[in-house]
Amino acid sequence: MTVLGATGSIGESTLDLVGRDPDAYEVIALTGCKNATRLAELAIKHRAKLAVVADPDCYADLQEALVGSGIAAASGEKALLEAASRPADWIMAAIVGAAGLKPTLRAVKQGTATALANKECLVSAGALFMDEVARHDTTLLPVDSEHSAALQAMTGTPPESIDRVCLTASGGPFRTWDLQQMADAEPAQALKHPNWSMGAKVTIDSATLMNKGLELLEAHHLFALAPKKLDVLVHPQSIVHCLVYMRDGAVLAQMSCPDMRTPIAYSLAWPNRMNVPDMRLDLAKVGTLTFESPDPEKFPALRLAKEVLAAGGSAGTVLNAANEVAVEAFLDNRLGFLAIAGLVETTLAGSPDLIALSPQTVGEILEIDEEARRRARVSLPRIA
Ligand code: NDP
Repeated sequence: MTVLGATGSIGESTLDLVGRDPDAYEVIALTGCKNATRLAELAIKHRAKLAVVADPDCYADLQEALVGSGIAAASGEKALLEAASRPADWIMAAIVGAAGLKPTLRAVKQGTATALANKECLVSAGALFMDEVARHDTTLLPVDSEHSAALQAMTGTPPESIDRVCLTASGGPFRTWDLQQMADAEPAQALKHPNWSMGAKVTIDSATLMNKGLELLEAHHLFALAPKKLDVLVHPQSIVHCLVYMRDGAVLAQMSCPDMRTPIAYSLAWPNRMNVPDMRLDLAKVGTLTFESPDPEKFPALRLAKEVLAAGGSAGTVLNAANEVAVEAFLDNRLGFLAIAGLVETTLAGSPDLIALSPQTVGEILEIDEEARRRARVSLPRIA
């Protein structure tokens, strides 16, 4: 097995599971971007054959940290693609953002069973990505807890029996804040997720609910579900991850602790189940499960994602690119919290020409992505 994004939150959780039964896995390659020291530690611990940092400036540090280990070190985009192409039975795609698209597609084209954490692949390039999955008969296993839950709840049910799939959202740290408080929210406050421990980008996406918007697009492509069959419900306890409404009135809900090791374990052992004793759910301790509709005024990102779903074309690519620019600017104190969705909306409104395009290659998608980022950066000072 290989882990792309091994030094991140999902990568570390994956390797935590792997480390519990080291003889069951042979680790082919681990990749990171800048954190060469941690990557080397993980590569040595899990006896990987190859370690790759995407950032060439971090290569010397990686080499130094791996001296005498017998583990090959490499850096840069070509090396990342090579790591993704190395024959493996299973790969975790956990690079953050559109940067994960090319390496993940490499693994898909190789026919390697792909555990997909990087939702941006489907948001930005869903149609092309799913075409490649079908063309190469690749097993694609969703890792996002909601989509893993949907897969578990839908397995064995014919598509026509499914009336609606509802993804749950915790509501993030600002669920109970008013608009003025949200306008003044600092990055440190947005990074304090009430239930989940995750990387910075997805944590900010969870605070704006853009994460749920991205997940609607992800579910649409993964499960070929029409937009009208997709819905979102706020569930602050993050115990129920998805509800599948059947046409006979039955509702199947998947529950687990808010810890990514459960969906990752499902993707690792699929179609079997791994024994993960510390992930047992104690519902008596949880006590109460509550549900509410998302507030459209406080969380406009959901409306934007639904508009993007309806628009089709390259709208997802533009939304994702503008959101990555906006989140980076917010974390850098160059953009207010509520302006994240504002910048995304402005970029979408100013890009009907890009949205109308039907790219046929990854290169064309990345050109649209780049142009959308450029437009978002141009609009940024005005929106800020
Ligand atoms: P993190 O920020 O924790 O980790 C990101 C990983 O990607 C790190 O290994 C990082 O390397 C690497 N990376 C960053 N930039 C690049 C680049 N340009 N090229 C190659 N590698 C890069 O993210 P998460 O683990 O939180 O999230 C990963 C993906 O999984 C995201 O798409 C997210 O939306 C999704 N996801 C995450 C969940 C979670 O609980 N964390 C839940 C569901 C989905 P380095 O650290 O060395 O810089």
